[in-house]
Order: sequence, then structure tokens, then C-alpha cells
Amino acid sequence: MTAEIIDGRALARRVVEQVKAEMASLPRLPGLAVILAGDDPASHVYVNSKIKRARDVGFNAEVKMLPAGVSEEEVLAQVAAFNERDDIDGILVQLPLPPQVNTLRVMAAVDPMKDVDGLHALNAGRLLQGNDALIPCTPLGCLKIIKSIVPDLTGSHAVVIGSSNIVGKPMASLLLEERATVTTTHIHTRDTQFICRGADILVSAVGKPGLVRGSWIKPRAIVIDVGINRITRPDGTTRLVGDVEFDEAREVAGALTPVPGGVGPMTIACLMENTLKAARMRIEVQRVAQAA
Ligand code: NAD
Repeated sequence: MTAEIIDGRALARRVVEQVKAEMASLPRLPGLAVILAGDDPASHVYVNSKIKRARDVGFNAEVKMLPAGVSEEEVLAQVAAFNERDDIDGILVQLPLPPQVNTLRVMAAVDPMKDVDGLHALNAGRLLQGNDALIPCTPLGCLKIIKSIVPDLTGSHAVVIGSSNIVGKPMASLLLEERATVTTTHIHTRDTQFICRGADILVSAVGKPGLVRGSWIKPRAIVIDVGINRITRPDGTTRLVGDVEFDEAREVAGALTPVPGGVGPMTIACLMENTLKAARMRIEVQRVAQAA
């Protein structure tokens, strides 16, 4: 059998259309601010796509570039400036930050109501407790992809490879909330492939090309490839691949996301959804404050 190749771009278009439709009922445009520190080429590409998509949707979107040598105090001052601004609903600090800047301190400084990347401890804790929260965009997008194939995950065995704060851990929490039985694996896990073979849903978020072989996949499983790896061909040109050995996986899996064109577009679409959600929450708070 050959797996269904999931069209992440088409799913993302649907999410964005919904955002546009819902935005029409807001009294003002949502505002998104991105902080980009340093000169990592991939980060620049990601930020440009996010800003472009936000403007296409009709949001006000701006990016604050900071030099690679920026101090933690300067990053925190920029976060504080965006926290203060009434016209900014969402703040995204593009990771990774330069090594002299403590990521957790910066995340803790973002107003939780504007935390569209869902990385503030308050949002991470609310997600863990099953409360409404701003949820990290990539796992949120992955869940939407999975539910487009299997709407009810009750009792499924889901395996998440990778346990970062931005992908692996929130992905596991979301799947648990969907009543799946969840196993998380990471660099120190013994016999990852044995664990993966039992997965009805397999999410790989590692950053290692070719990690997940066809032999790791349960027949008809849903395989979500979060990894983004740039590899160089013999002729010197480069291309993007995921963590999953695509040609092997498509012979075994029931459904599979490609790289590119799978999780990536859904991540950006979910950033739009989160920015709309943050704008809604803040508009409501402002309305109540004015009425009081
Ligand atoms: P990370 O480096 O923070 O975490 C990687 C995780 O993988 C860690 O938990 C580590 O223990 C685990 N790991 C490393 N080697 C392993 C191995 N051999 N077997 C099992 N587990 C192993 O990375 P991250 O920020 O979570 O990102 C992971 C990947 O997803 C990267 O390729 C990144 O570029 C990609 N990513 C894609 C999107 C998107 O929108 N498509 C968004 C975020 C991240």
C-alpha cells in the first residue's frame, strides 16, 4: 500500500480562510510583532514567511531586528516595549536567540496574553492542566493535521520523538488531552524503534535526516514529520528533508506529511490563529475595562 501524502498547504489555507472570516467581526486589526535577534539564515527565512503571511491575512505585522551581539537587557527592553503597546496583540521571539541571551528569561518576560508562541510558563502550565491556553503553533498545527485524518484519537497509541518545550512536550500534552496513550522518546531513550513500531500516530520532532526508517512504522500509522533539515546534494545544491525516510515510510504508513509542504505551512497558519485569539482576548479585556 502507499500512504496518503497529507497536503499541509491545503489544510493551512483552510485555517487562514477561517481566520480571515473571523477577523471581519473584530473592531480593529490584530497586530503581530516579531523579534529577530542575530543573523541565522533559516530564522530570517521563517520570520519573513510569518510576516508576509500575517500581512496577507490583513494583520498589522512588524519585525524588530536586533544584532547578533545584542545583550539580554536589550532583548528584554524590546519585549517590554511590545508588551506596553496597545496595538500589538501577539509577540513572537524567534528562536534560537544568541547564546548570551537566556531564552527562558525572555519567554517569561512576554505578556502571557500576547504569547502567540505559547512558550510562557503560564500558557505551558495551562496546556498541561487541560485549560484554554495559547498553544505552541507547530504542535497545534500537527494536531489539526492528525485530526483531519482521524477525528477521534481516543485510545490511540501516539509516540512523539523529541521532547523540546516548543514541539515535543506540548505535542504530547495535546495528544493526551485528545485521550491518546502517549509515549515521548528523546535522545536517551533505549530502543526508540521498538517503541515507534507500536504507534498508531508517530510524530518526529528531532532534526535528524533519515532517523525514522520504514521499519520503525506500524502499517497504516499516521506519520507527522516535523523535522526540517537542509542537506547538500553531490552537485553542491541543497534541499530540505524531514526526519523520516520518506520513500520507505510511504510504503508502510497510512498517511504521511511531506517536507516541505506538511507541518511548516500549518505552523504559520496556527500563528495566525493564535494572533487572532490573542487579539480577541485583549479586545474583550479592553471592552470590560472601558465598561467598568
Ligand atoms: P530541539 O533540538 O530543541 O529538540 C530535539 C529533540 O530531539 C530533543 O528532545 C532530543 O532529545 C531529541 N533527539 C535528538 N536526537 C535524537 C535521536 N537520535 N533519537 C530520538 N530523539 C532525539 O529541536 P526542536 O526545536 O524541537 O525542533 C525539532 C525539529 O523540528 C528541527 O528539525 C526543527 O527545525 C524542526 N521544527 C520544525 C517546525 C516546523 O514548522 N515544521 C517548527 C519547529 C521545529
